[in-house]
Amino acid sequence: MLIVMDAQPRDEDLKGVVSRIESLGFKAHVLPGSLNTAVGITGNPGPLDPGIFEILPGVHHAIPVSEPYKLAGRKWRTADTSIPIGDGKVVVGSNTLVVMAGPCAVESEEQTVRIARAVKAAGAHVLRGGAFKHRTSPYAFQGLGEAGLKILGAARAETGLPVITEVMGPGDVDTVCRYADILQVGARNMQNFGLLREIGRAKKPVMLKRGLSATIDEWLMSAEYILAEGNAAVMLCERGIRTFSNHTRNTLDLNAVPVVQKLSHLPILVDPSHGTGLRDKVVPLARAAAAVGADGIIVEVHDRPNEALCDGPQALSPEMFADLVKQLKAMGPILGYVM
Ligand code: PEP
Ligand code: MN
Repeated sequence: MLIVMDAQPRDEDLKGVVSRIESLGFKAHVLPGSLNTAVGITGNPGPLDPGIFEILPGVHHAIPVSEPYKLAGRKWRTADTSIPIGDGKVVVGSNTLVVMAGPCAVESEEQTVRIARAVKAAGAHVLRGGAFKHRTSPYAFQGLGEAGLKILGAARAETGLPVITEVMGPGDVDTVCRYADILQVGARNMQNFGLLREIGRAKKPVMLKRGLSATIDEWLMSAEYILAEGNAAVMLCERGIRTFSNHTRNTLDLNAVPVVQKLSHLPILVDPSHGTGLRDKVVPLARAAAAVGADGIIVEVHDRPNEALCDGPQALSPEMFADLVKQLKAMGPILGYVM
């Protein structure tokens, strides 16, 4: 159920609606908008009678919503969600094509700061780098943990770039929040519901990657877990799915971008690095992501890919990355974004 009020309802009217919802044992979500303020209800086990709310002062009408993902869906919020990052100079879900770049994994302070400087010089807006690595094999490099987060903090201090990094377990959320500007939920954790709930209680933007074989509905339901706990700053990231096609690591499902944009108000980014797994495919697929209307891209960059502890074959060199940024900038005026 969505309760529609004036754009700026009277304080006591809004409070009246919220307390009526809470008195029924449900959760109220206030969604301000330019034309109307809406109040969404979650936690109700079945349909509600719109009449209970339509008699309240300041309420225009109440609309039953049947989508399984209510908070993530367009019915609840027609305007696109914009998410300011760090000091707010970068906004995901704006007319800026946001470029996040950096190594797959934080390996050392020297390596991270070196690459951070290179991606910053090329025009990246956000530094990526994994401190907690979700690896298929337990014998592969698992990341530096909190020491890696401190290195990311140093790279941010050095370059001014806000930082995105993965949080792997619910117990790590507080620690990662102390260092990161954006919490990344990896593909393998898309349905780690305990983690999603914990992140939903955090006060940091989140990038939720699509699961290895997740449908778009399952992905949006995972976003719903985070939103339902009160964290509205959720962006999605298409990073390739499993198919029978075996010439690339994954199949980058660029269909997901317009499909998600129709179903949801949440920003959507594309990861052509994990989506293809091959350096020479990353640049064309990054261009395709921009062309299809993604809000941004996240790309792996390494200056010594042969020595990389993780995902060397898909890492762009700093030169390739700088050239990609130039290409994306040149496409901006045609596609209507700035960088
Ligand atoms: C990553 O971005 O570092 C990563 C591990 O990606 P994914 O979760 O998409 O595999
Ligand atoms: Mn990687």
